[in-house]
Amino acid sequence: MSDELKTFRLLTFGCKVNQYETDLLRSQCLRAGLAERRDTAQADLVIVNTCGVTSRAVGKSRRAARAAVRANPRALVVATGCAADLDRRDLEAIEHVQIVPHAEKAHILERLLHSPAGRVPPVCRRTRALLRIQDGCNQFCTYCVVPHVRRTLWSKPPDEALEEARYLASRGHREIVLTGIRLGLYDAGREDSLARFLLALEDVDGLERVRLSSIEIGDVTDALLGAMRRSTKFCPHLHLPLQSGDDTVLAEMHRPYDSRGYLRRLAEIRSALGRTAVTTDVIAGFPGETAEQFENTLRVCREAAFSKIHIFPFSARRPAPAADMPGKAAPAEIRRRVALLARLERELAANYRSAMVGDTVEVLVESRTDGVLEGKTRDYVTVAFDGEDSLVGGIVQLRIAGTSGRRLRGEPAFTEEAAECKSKKKSTRLSGSRKA
Ligand code: SF4
Repeated sequence: MSDELKTFRLLTFGCKVNQYETDLLRSQCLRAGLAERRDTAQADLVIVNTCGVTSRAVGKSRRAARAAVRANPRALVVATGCAADLDRRDLEAIEHVQIVPHAEKAHILERLLHSPAGRVPPVCRRTRALLRIQDGCNQFCTYCVVPHVRRTLWSKPPDEALEEARYLASRGHREIVLTGIRLGLYDAGREDSLARFLLALEDVDGLERVRLSSIEIGDVTDALLGAMRRSTKFCPHLHLPLQSGDDTVLAEMHRPYDSRGYLRRLAEIRSALGRTAVTTDVIAGFPGETAEQFENTLRVCREAAFSKIHIFPFSARRPAPAADMPGKAAPAEIRRRVALLARLERELAANYRSAMVGDTVEVLVESRTDGVLEGKTRDYVTVAFDGEDSLVGGIVQLRIAGTSGRRLRGEPAFTEEAAECKSKKKSTRLSGSRKA
């Protein structure tokens, strides 16, 4: 088998931790001498790194595996990731797909090519690189299947994580996103470990921006807030899952806060950090959620002034206990709640963007999309502007001229420094001419 495998293609679904694990698989494949292909039809090995968090994500993963077999019947198609554990039977039903359980994902190449996995740094194709420093969750929120797959709590030793950050920066990544399933449990949740690691990244040459992926609001400790304030690289954007704004529903979900506690801590975070974009996840139609309880969620979302809300219609996923809870809302009612949340989300996101018009912002340029360059501000808002392709991967200063759909429109900025320098030159020239 191993001699026949010369090329590979990777397909990934789900969270940033899964995407990072794909970056590791890419690294292993390249080390084993395989060449990456963007076209499934040209790949000898196709690895589908599946997601099992919602039925929709499982459906997408399954369709991708089936499409890969159809597009290239002679390829070896392997499905791994969370759905390979949670929905094994569904994936096994697809002919010619080999299943590798999530726990054995890191050893796929060892299995297929007999090449030792070893410790390899990830190979990331995106401008913003991911750095997984933690894995696993033991919170067991009642709707969530993640702890049933990723139950072992693991943290990357700080020295190793730092070495990887240096490696990523040396490969030209100006921004890294620290990822984990439950970032706050980094180093067993010791209050200052994540804070100390954030500050250690200050010394990584070439690295200019550090972002945290999702973090539980209760895990944003005072020590972490202090480190965010002191860090020159920390991006003022936090993804703080809310899930519901109703206290009864939150208790049913087994979430460790109530709505008032969430809003209180959010106010403290904002007052410590200044302007900070806060994004969130919300579930619509959790079993037993009444219309009134859903209204509470809308109210809390408005008060929290999120800059983006990821909306999830409730998805019954066994073995998560909520899959068997009574009081499921009718699909039409769930759709209605999703639509109301989506309307509010558009309004809040537009407010956040409008407030930025006229500002000068720093943008990490990521790609050319629809003929214009596109990148993200430090607070994670997309800006589109005209420019050369050579700017991709770099950081530019832009003045926000207006908004355009979900993006901001930027134009070259004259920063204060540049303006000051310009006016000094002008006055020197003027005084010079007077003297003459
Ligand atoms: S904290 Fe809750 S929602 Fe997040 S991964 Fe753990 S169980 Fe799932």
